[in-house]
Amino acid sequence: MKPLIFFDINGTLITRDERTDLPFSQAVNRFLDSKGGMEGIDTSARSDKDVFMEVLANHKMQFTEPQWDFFLSLYEEELKNLAKSDIWRPNADASTFVKNLFKKGCSLALVTGELSIGAEYKLRKIGLWDFFIAGGFGEDALHRFGIAEAARDKAEKKLGALPDTLYVIGDTVLDIQTARYLRAKAIAITTGSHSREKLLKENPDYCIDRFETILSLFN
Ligand SMILES: [Mg+2]
Repeated sequence: MKPLIFFDINGTLITRDERTDLPFSQAVNRFLDSKGGMEGIDTSARSDKDVFMEVLANHKMQFTEPQWDFFLSLYEEELKNLAKSDIWRPNADASTFVKNLFKKGCSLALVTGELSIGAEYKLRKIGLWDFFIAGGFGEDALHRFGIAEAARDKAEKKLGALPDTLYVIGDTVLDIQTARYLRAKAIAITTGSHSREKLLKENPDYCIDRFETILSLFN
């Protein structure tokens, strides 16, 4: 059985810059009816729901399901509006790599703190959404390991069984730790939030600048 490869999204499949999460921050501002709702909040490698809870705590508000549903409706409006813009672009040679893996018969899945709705808008925009058989998303658990378990379980259900070899590809130290947690090989890419130095300290199996470097692993 060909390997199962889990991808992170921001900084890995999608170029991460200050506009990547604009729909989320604009939805937060509309929710609060004020500006700068995301100021001082570090979103790197966190689930969207966890971030939203910090926003509420910063404003002495309680989390309730109706509040969350209202926020999600605002978020979807912002995603829809910004889908027409160029804020989401493929990172490095991610598009070619994903399509090549798919052609080779590898199974591809997602592990991300993004809500599935945000992940779908972003990956549809760059034409990659349909290549993934399953995903663990920000609504599946508050923290990355829980999200990773959800991704693995969903992929296993789709495939009938898990292949012997799993990989996790991501741009942060947490992605490397997630790989260890899933007993997967860790591929760190230097195009996102963490420097090569910082990534190497976590001992990934591979540390790359572009995906083409590792394509031959999947022959
Ligand atoms: Mg990332």
